[in-house]
Amino acid sequence: MLVKKFGGSSVADPERVMHVAQTITEAYNDGHDVVVVVSAQGDTTDHLIEAAHIINPNPSKREMDVLLATGEQQSMALLAMAIESLGFPVISLAGWQAGIQTNSNHSAAHIRRINTERIHNELAKKNIVIVAGFQGVNRYDDITTLGRGGSDTSAVAIAAAMHADLCQIYTDVDGIYTADPRKVRGAQKLDRITYDEMLELASLGAQVLHNRSVEMAKKYNVRLDVLSSLVDLPGTKVREAVKVEKWLIKGVTSDNDVARISVCNVPDRPGIAFKIFSILGAQKINVDIILQSIGRENTKDISFTVAREMKDRAVEVLQDNLDVMDGVYFLCDDNIAKVSIVGAGMQTNHGVAARMFEALSEENINIQMISTSEIKISVLIKKSDSERAVQAIHDAFIS
Ligand code: ADP
Ligand code: ASP
Ligand code: MG
Repeated sequence: MLVKKFGGSSVADPERVMHVAQTITEAYNDGHDVVVVVSAQGDTTDHLIEAAHIINPNPSKREMDVLLATGEQQSMALLAMAIESLGFPVISLAGWQAGIQTNSNHSAAHIRRINTERIHNELAKKNIVIVAGFQGVNRYDDITTLGRGGSDTSAVAIAAAMHADLCQIYTDVDGIYTADPRKVRGAQKLDRITYDEMLELASLGAQVLHNRSVEMAKKYNVRLDVLSSLVDLPGTKVREAVKVEKWLIKGVTSDNDVARISVCNVPDRPGIAFKIFSILGAQKINVDIILQSIGRENTKDISFTVAREMKDRAVEVLQDNLDVMDGVYFLCDDNIAKVSIVGAGMQTNHGVAARMFEALSEENINIQMISTSEIKISVLIKKSDSERAVQAIHDAFIS
């Protein structure tokens, strides 16, 4: 059994839909059970968001989900029609019909379980099954969506639930590269990458895979391939750790949707950091890089980064709940980017950080904050430096 997922650009126009239909029917002819997950065509999701905001700048998340889910419903039907036209048995299923049950977190729902009965029945009838990506249904029968890029997660979840042999993510590049091949000169295609490395890359800004899809693939050991929907080339395999590492660094990526908040002039005594981060935690605001610095006269400054969309909310709850002490003030900056390198090999290698910082210093790029883990180093820099930084770091490690 194969699960094949086609992203928005792969089904952007009628020619591409027909091409995808060919790819699918070839696999079916080879004797595979085929379940297909499809995204909305081209920029459909963006256009639907714009259309909503013209009518209501602040729509409820529930109605947004009802609207956005129509994009995938369109493309699943068109793709099914294309397959019909080639003379193959096919059926399209919306998320709820395919048994994709999620929690109620509209616009960022998590898949709870998949009731695979319907998909199994359709495969038993020898149908090719097309499932709408990015959507599910909560326990009140309301339509939910999984967050931008979520069709990857739909595909991996179905592959896990169906115990598929392979989950193939078809997209507009022919694999996973050491950096975004559309932006970085000299980016190299990887034959393989581990789940952990890919998870870091996806979480740190490489949109080629939705990060939750990688998390799920690792958890359920789903064999995952990323490949081109346009050309027939071997793609990149995402798998458990492998022995031979060709490159120390697997990827360089940037995330421009971050903001830095500084809480300045707080008293330098135990419990302050606890207070700040528990207030944020209670509001489900994720904090990333944290930096504490010594201030003046028994005070300190605590800076941290959050997703840009959470910035205003974070400052608001801190102002409301941090029984504000004399002289405490907040600074915010969203004119920043987080640039990261990822690679499991670097934990046992000296000098990786130095080489990364050298590359930045040669470009005269100032580092505002640094964070490291076993398999990644991230730096916070000015947003306008981000493209140059990615290229310079990439040049320093991969050639
Ligand atoms: P789809 O519509 O198929 O889901 P996406 O636009 O979500 O496609 O993801 C594919 C894009 O991801 C590519 O066009 C590429 O520009 C971008 N990308 C970012 N980082 C990487 C990387 N390291 N390797 C490959 N592609 C990347
Ligand atoms: N159509 C949705 C989006 O544009 C989901 C996806 O493409 O994976 O985000
Ligand atoms: Mg995508």
